[in-house]
Amino acid sequence: MLHSIQHLNYGSKCIEYKLIFTTRKSLGIKVLPDGLVNVIAPNDSSITDIHTKVKSKAKWILKQQLFFDNFKPHSPARKFINGETHLYLGRQFKLQIIESTTNEIKIYRGEMIIKTKKSNPEYLERKLNEWYKDKAIQIFDEILTHSIVKFEKYKIERPTLEIRLMEKRWGSCTKSGKVILNTELIKAPKGSIEYVIIHELCHLIHYNHTQKFYELQTKLMPDWEKWKIKLEKVML
Ligand SMILES: [Zn+2]
Repeated sequence: MLHSIQHLNYGSKCIEYKLIFTTRKSLGIKVLPDGLVNVIAPNDSSITDIHTKVKSKAKWILKQQLFFDNFKPHSPARKFINGETHLYLGRQFKLQIIESTTNEIKIYRGEMIIKTKKSNPEYLERKLNEWYKDKAIQIFDEILTHSIVKFEKYKIERPTLEIRLMEKRWGSCTKSGKVILNTELIKAPKGSIEYVIIHELCHLIHYNHTQKFYELQTKLMPDWEKWKIKLEKVML
C-alpha cells in the first residue's frame, strides 16, 4: 500500500494525516486513539479532491482528537478540580472532591465523588487512575464472562485478560490466546467494550481480518459497527 503524510490548514490548526491509497471505492477517514489521522482513498483519486473532502471533515477530526485527549491519563487539560467532567462507561461525570480521613471514589447521581486525604492534582490523578483500573478489571471480566457464552460451539478456551494502558489500540490478542485490553476502554460505553472483547475473541478463531473473521463477528454481534463508531465518536 502506498502512503504519504499530508498537511491541511484549517483555521489556526494544522491537521496532519497519513494518506493511504487502496483498491477501495470510497474515501475513509479514521482518527486513532493517539490522535493520528488515517485517510484511505481509492487509487484513482486526486490529491486536490482528497484534500477538499478531508477539509470538509476537519471539524469532526478536531473534535475526535479532542475527545481522545480526554482519554489520555496525563493530558495537561486535566486539572482534577470540582466540576471538571470525567468519563466513565461512556458518560461524563462531574468531579466532586471532598477532603476526608479516608479515600473513596463513587459514582452518585451524575457525579464522581472523590473522598480524599489530599487534594493536590497529582494525588487525585493517581487515585482516580487506580479506581479506573479496578473498575476495568471487574467490568471487563464480567463482559468477557457473558460474551464467551456466544462462542460455546467454537470450543475456545477462556483467554487470560491483561489490562494495561496502550497508546494506539483498544485491544489486541496473542497467538497463545491472551487478550489485552486498554484500561482506557473503561471510559467507553459497555456496548463498545463488548465489541472490542468480541472482536478479540473472534481472533482466537480467525487470526487475521479476513472475510470469515468479519462474518463471524457480524454473526455474534450484528450491531458491532454501531459500537465501533461509538467508540471512535462518543460524546461528540
Ligand atoms: Zn482485529
